[in-house]
Amino acid sequence: MARKGRARRAERGRARPDPNDLMWVMPTKGDSMTAQPKRRDAAHPVTQIDFARAGVVTPQMTEVARKEGRDPEFIRAGVAAGRIAIPANIHHAALSPEGVGEGLRTKVNVNLGISGDLADEAEEWRKVEVALKYGAEAIMDLSNSGKTQAFRTKLVAASSAMIGTVPMYDAIGYLDKALISITADDFLDVVRRHAQDGVDFLTIHAGMNRRVIESFKETGRLTNVVSRGGSLIFAWMEATGNENPFYEHYDEILEILHEHDVTISIGDAMRPGCTYDASDAGQIAELIEIGKLTRRAWDAGVQVMVEGPGHMALDEIAANMKLEKRLCHGAPFYVLGPLVTDIAPGYDHITAAIGGAVAASSGADFLCYVTPAEHLRLPDADDVREGLIATKIAAHAADIAKGVPGARDRDNRMSDARRRVDWEGMFAEALDADKARAYFQSAPPSTEGTCTMCGEMCALRTVNQIMDGLTVQLEPTGEGAR
Ligand code: SF4
Repeated sequence: MARKGRARRAERGRARPDPNDLMWVMPTKGDSMTAQPKRRDAAHPVTQIDFARAGVVTPQMTEVARKEGRDPEFIRAGVAAGRIAIPANIHHAALSPEGVGEGLRTKVNVNLGISGDLADEAEEWRKVEVALKYGAEAIMDLSNSGKTQAFRTKLVAASSAMIGTVPMYDAIGYLDKALISITADDFLDVVRRHAQDGVDFLTIHAGMNRRVIESFKETGRLTNVVSRGGSLIFAWMEATGNENPFYEHYDEILEILHEHDVTISIGDAMRPGCTYDASDAGQIAELIEIGKLTRRAWDAGVQVMVEGPGHMALDEIAANMKLEKRLCHGAPFYVLGPLVTDIAPGYDHITAAIGGAVAASSGADFLCYVTPAEHLRLPDADDVREGLIATKIAAHAADIAKGVPGARDRDNRMSDARRRVDWEGMFAEALDADKARAYFQSAPPSTEGTCTMCGEMCALRTVNQIMDGLTVQLEPTGEGAR
């Protein structure tokens, strides 16, 4: 008990006063879990990590504990230490909070959003419906053309999943300026707008500073910089000769994020775009910078997630996950893929799911989905479903391997239904019940209690009959039968 008390006092000591002198008023039981920023004195916490360090279990922590089958104190301690993030913007009233990090279920993100070439808002809403129906815990709105605020605010209002954005994508459209005319202050304005709009986590590519670019230029790459946000910042830095504005003005960005309890998802601008570039000097140089930025964010009372690769051969993935956890002090790791080979366009939901399963079982906490359309076009709603289910499979497979509490329960229920040849029971446990049912119904079996795979030779049915004390009778069928 004394040790626990000392740890809590140490956590409290690390909490910094909010620079904007704001207080987040805790809702009473039964009220909405969101709140408006209020004036506060310096002793009062604002963000989930502030509260956790102050020893307070918030409603969001309680809800995450319920979903995960964990003790609320386990969640509070994880948030206080930075090992768990609960992205929960104070303006996101529809949010059903999720925890991302050590000891929790692996979470899955769906990307969508309007692009310049395909600005079909109705199709983007179909994707939102698919994402929510099939259990995505997060949706990133990557809209990058025109005025994006209307779609973003509608999405925040409608979505129980956490919402992420990349302000850099939106800068040109929001500011109505050419890239090289945008100032550092302009970039901060875009960050502020997204935070005020209720976005739960923002991808900020703050790690790619001049040192990292020097390292990348010295060593060279097969596919250079493939991160969209990273390429825009690289172009801006090269054109203006200035330092990365998100790195140079990092403290001001943290102040904005703290005010609205936005989690920073520190982007990996130097993520490898092919297996050849994986684990190279540029990637690792940026990861070292991200580790330093992680500590600065925690010191400012801002929750952190760290983004990672990318493309990577299978044998490098586990070591990369451990390196991230080491260099970034145990911060939750959010990976795109990794895609374990470069030669399967049209099937990259599979190459990414293979890598995602290995990554998550080796320590990654959050998987960004990849669709069959990756590298080829903007995905449609069907691609979103295929990509999401593939990534959910990877996440769940990893959770079984990691021994996440309760992870096997659904598999055991499925197996019990299989043994009983209970089709409705099987559909109820399936990740994609619609697809499973459609397959079964497309080929009705002639023998009841089987499917057309084995028909009357159904192993399950045969053994069930024996176990029930019945005699199994299998007669020859087909053309040669007499
Ligand atoms: S027929 Fe074969 S595949 Fe179908 S339920 Fe029975 S054992 Fe399984």
